[in-house]
Amino acid sequence: MRYLKFLWIAPFIFLLSLRSLPDRNTPLQKWMEPDSKKLHILVTTRMCASLVEEVGGDRVHVWTLIDEDLDPHSYQLVKGDAEKFRRADLIIANGLHLEHGRSLQNLLKEKEALFLGDKIFSLSPDLFLPMDNGIDPHFWMDVSLFSRSVPYIVEALQKKDPAHSQEYAVRGGQLLLQLDLLDHKIRVLMSKIPLEKRYLVTSHDAFQYFARRYLVKNGAEGDHLEHFLAPEGVSPDGQIGALDIQKIIRHVVKNRVSVVFAESNISKDSLNKIIEACRSQGVELRLSRADLYADSMGEESYIKMMEHNARVIQSELYPIHPDENF
Ligand SMILES: [Zn+2]
Repeated sequence: MRYLKFLWIAPFIFLLSLRSLPDRNTPLQKWMEPDSKKLHILVTTRMCASLVEEVGGDRVHVWTLIDEDLDPHSYQLVKGDAEKFRRADLIIANGLHLEHGRSLQNLLKEKEALFLGDKIFSLSPDLFLPMDNGIDPHFWMDVSLFSRSVPYIVEALQKKDPAHSQEYAVRGGQLLLQLDLLDHKIRVLMSKIPLEKRYLVTSHDAFQYFARRYLVKNGAEGDHLEHFLAPEGVSPDGQIGALDIQKIIRHVVKNRVSVVFAESNISKDSLNKIIEACRSQGVELRLSRADLYADSMGEESYIKMMEHNARVIQSELYPIHPDENF
């Protein structure tokens, strides 16, 4: 009888215990579950994940580690990430030291991740641009260069799932055709902007490859540096000083730049400082009406992201009739 008087709280204890169970219906929980039908792939960035999804189709279940607006340059492992690494059948990273947060870098190496940029670099180092005593990791900004990742993705999926090798090869081939078309479309669109107007100023140094591939005419070495400038250096957490501001103002005046491009995941403080400094010296400068996507994808696919960037750059630098856009 002594225990019976506590019986009334039993339903509440039951309900509380239900609440403390992990939610098995979140997308992450679904990805973490055992699955014999699909390869579970952990990819560091959305841009790389997008290519993996295209090649893998419904044979793969992809999870992006550094999603949304997080900064891949400084990302460190958080609670729960180690479990994702343990669950993954395959781990794919951008490489070229983009993911340079110490804890993440160490785990990627320990788990023998496929570093796409490093694979391409090892065969064709001449295709890459130097930056801060290393290699510029933002190679997705040149579609023709990023598309060289596709054969490595196909190969990795075939190795993990040989029974469907042919499927991966076919989808990889289709993706290469799509990327080739995208590269061509961006080149055509940029060529409509007169060369003297093709100047890009962004928050951080993510657009070197874009400038080399799409903004200069003959692609001569170093030419693209004339057409692209970013005050915050390679990593968006860089601080901007008075000397940087003066350098940008000189560039703006010399090349008659009238617009600077904000990036979706970076504070606009530095660019606003530059705009204010220009105004105080009688130089008119404004922010772009739409943000560019640099280190975060924003759109539903890599192809859409690059189309967005090309469209924004073209419409800001040299507006043309919308029919001529894509
Ligand atoms: Zn970056």
